[in-house]
Amino acid sequence: MKKDIKSLLPEELREEMRSLNVPGYRADQVFKWLSGGVRSFDEMSNLPAGLRSELDEKFYITSPTVARKQVSAIDGTIKYLWALSDGNCVESVVMSYEHGNTVCVSSEVGCRMGCAFCASTIGGLVRPLEPSEILDQVLFSQMDSGRRISNIVLMGIGEPLDNFDNVIKFLKIVNHPAGMNIGMRHISLSTCGLTEKVDKLGTLHLQLTLSVSLHAPDDETRNKIMPVNKNCGVDRLFETCQRYFNETGRRISFEYAMIDGVNDSDYHAELLARRLRGTGSHVNLIPLNNVEESPLKASPPERIKKFTDILASKGITVTVRRKLGSDIDASCGQLRKKHTNL
Ligand code: SAH
Repeated sequence: MKKDIKSLLPEELREEMRSLNVPGYRADQVFKWLSGGVRSFDEMSNLPAGLRSELDEKFYITSPTVARKQVSAIDGTIKYLWALSDGNCVESVVMSYEHGNTVCVSSEVGCRMGCAFCASTIGGLVRPLEPSEILDQVLFSQMDSGRRISNIVLMGIGEPLDNFDNVIKFLKIVNHPAGMNIGMRHISLSTCGLTEKVDKLGTLHLQLTLSVSLHAPDDETRNKIMPVNKNCGVDRLFETCQRYFNETGRRISFEYAMIDGVNDSDYHAELLARRLRGTGSHVNLIPLNNVEESPLKASPPERIKKFTDILASKGITVTVRRKLGSDIDASCGQLRKKHTNL
């Protein structure tokens, strides 16, 4: 069985080199080539030919292909559908802002969290992604688009904390100075709120930004749209977020998809403000993206405005997410769904 070489950190590669009786610096050379996006060992031109074929016998290099690429005519947002080596597909979105280019990557093929408004969960979880397969989305988005990626958000298909070890490994690889060297402060991770995993993440003291998909400030509403809430509830989620802040000193940002008649009343806004008062947390309101299979609809603009005003008047910092790539369905698993007809 060949091993996945791109899921290894330089120190692990060094171990592998030792077992091949090859000096340690070769590991750094290999790591550099892999982080530069080579698709075969033959491209590693500063390695002796013998070593290249030895590596080829022992390892494989993941290299996804573009199954589909869409570029928004409105704002240049690019949406990629990648075909993985086993034929499964995941998507990434490249968004360009004044301060640089951000890629939104997937962490799993499908998702088992079951949120009522999300297209990614409709076919359930197929399998977690390997660290290399998450890295490839950053690497090949950058190479194909010609846009240098400076920021990463783990907000594509899947629940990153449900694939904890692989996601952490990916973060270490993409952050490594000898690799893509993307700073933790330029990385955001979004979770539906798996509390035990949030605690575990806190102990790692990473400088990334944690976003929690809240979508409702009370159990009654949250239970209806997010099955994960039935395991722990909003009180415990907020306690966990407070603990995370105490542990890491990093403020959490809350995502809140505005769903017409479900979570967008004045009552919800007031309760949300009460619960967040004094925490310094930031709320990011997202007008719901319509998902064909779901009867849930986006709140009207006036409702979003009123909700925003209530939060702001109570001292909560709130932004409404700008919609990028709306002409290419650049959100929430829609492209993969259309492609695979799940
Ligand atoms: N599983 C993670 C990350 C993936 S989803 C999480 O739950 O955070 C990224 C964000 O998009 C989450 O906040 C999710 O709740 C939100 N989202 C999913 N479907 C959406 C939709 N149809 N409209 C708006 N936001 C949606």
